[in-house]
Amino acid sequence: MNHAVRRLAQDRRCLVMGLGAFGGGLGVTRALVDAGAKEVLVTDLANETKLATSLEAIKPLVDTGRVQLRLGGHLESDFRSAEVVIANPAVPKPWQNEFLLAARAGGATVTTEMRLGLEGVPADRVIGITGSAGKSTTSAMIAHLLDGDGRRAVLAGNIGGSLLERAPQLGAKDWLVLELSSFMLWWLGPEAGGTPWLPRIGVLTNLADNHLDWHVDAAHYSRSKSFVRGPSQHAFISRFDAEDAASAQRFAKLPAGAWWRGAALDAAIESRPELADSCPLPGAHNRRNALLALQVAAAALRADGEDADLRALCARLATFRGLPHRLALVHEANGVRWFDDSKATTPEATLLAVSCFPDRRKVHLIAGGSDKGSNLSPIAELAGELAGLYAIGTTAPALCTHGGNACGTLQEATRRIHAALKPGDVVLLSPGCASWDQFKNYEDRGRQFAAMARGR
Ligand code: ADP
Repeated sequence: MNHAVRRLAQDRRCLVMGLGAFGGGLGVTRALVDAGAKEVLVTDLANETKLATSLEAIKPLVDTGRVQLRLGGHLESDFRSAEVVIANPAVPKPWQNEFLLAARAGGATVTTEMRLGLEGVPADRVIGITGSAGKSTTSAMIAHLLDGDGRRAVLAGNIGGSLLERAPQLGAKDWLVLELSSFMLWWLGPEAGGTPWLPRIGVLTNLADNHLDWHVDAAHYSRSKSFVRGPSQHAFISRFDAEDAASAQRFAKLPAGAWWRGAALDAAIESRPELADSCPLPGAHNRRNALLALQVAAAALRADGEDADLRALCARLATFRGLPHRLALVHEANGVRWFDDSKATTPEATLLAVSCFPDRRKVHLIAGGSDKGSNLSPIAELAGELAGLYAIGTTAPALCTHGGNACGTLQEATRRIHAALKPGDVVLLSPGCASWDQFKNYEDRGRQFAAMARGR
């Protein structure tokens, strides 16, 4: 039991704003019940149908009356009478949200699942990673590099699941590797109230215009991200300037300034970019993520007074398989590599995935799915440059305007590909579209692809 939750919630009227589908809302709902809250009300703008999976998980609590539901919208009076409000970090512009303002005006403590989870974890054992792109991959690489040799590295935060449920009793040598979105960071920063929280090692991958609907503008976004940087005695690591000088210069002009500069980079790693060769994930962006992860792992080891043996770190990096469904190598046989990039649901993501392979004439690309209204012609135009473009799902006709193969289903696409493969080829599932027309979700699509790759 996390004592912070008990101190906050015992005998109080608690409200969870946003159950969501990623686990944080569920974890905190269960924790509030366990802590002896007088009342736990879960309220969400989404309706029962949308939240079906999450609701199923708390059904016993609802059936026994320990959790009340208010779905399909919020009611201001619920917020006015609450004593504790746990806001989902995805709620946009929380500083001006009418319901959160009503809660604060009524004297409620307003916080997030992550802040509560962090109160149960020593801040000096946390590595916080943020950035516009590459957060999940870099975080997973760091955890992979640090886990083992008598120490655990636990991955949590924006990567999914509940920190409250995952944050274990960390041992003196263990690390919590915490992926942080800009929203989560805003809630951990000075503007959300409470004591600003700072990790022992802060990490920025890069910045690009993103989530400007949640934030007011790029300046607010950059400032929120800057909360990942601790005071000077804490380590801070970023290769943003080295990774993308043009973007770094653009963001440096914003009011938050070039807050990522002066990072403590290990010169031995910076002078040897070939270290990234040990990373088995394709693509220049993954090489950058690998160099950053090596920097962070070396800093974490040094923080514990250990040697950062680069050869040993590279050997560990070589065994990293990538995150599920993000350009993950799922099968290799007869000189052919099969990559599952099912998470790529925009044409931009598909183009980036294809560009990771130096010789695209060897790439059999499976694309298509349900129609999100995106312009798919950049993918269709690749048809003549690839070993083959195999189109599936509702968008197949739009993808076959330049000579792709309309296959209908994933099964038919892999059947045709199996017949055409040569050693050295790559099979890439990078749909550029959502999965809803033929699959439960992108994970289901990726799993089916991996099974077909293995001939099952
Ligand atoms: P995030 O967690 O920040 O969304 P991920 O690690 O899940 O990032 O990667 C998501 C996508 O972002 C990848 O599939 C790739 O297209 C792109 N990406 C990853 N790393 C980088 C990087 N360093 N620079 C630019 N794009 C990247």
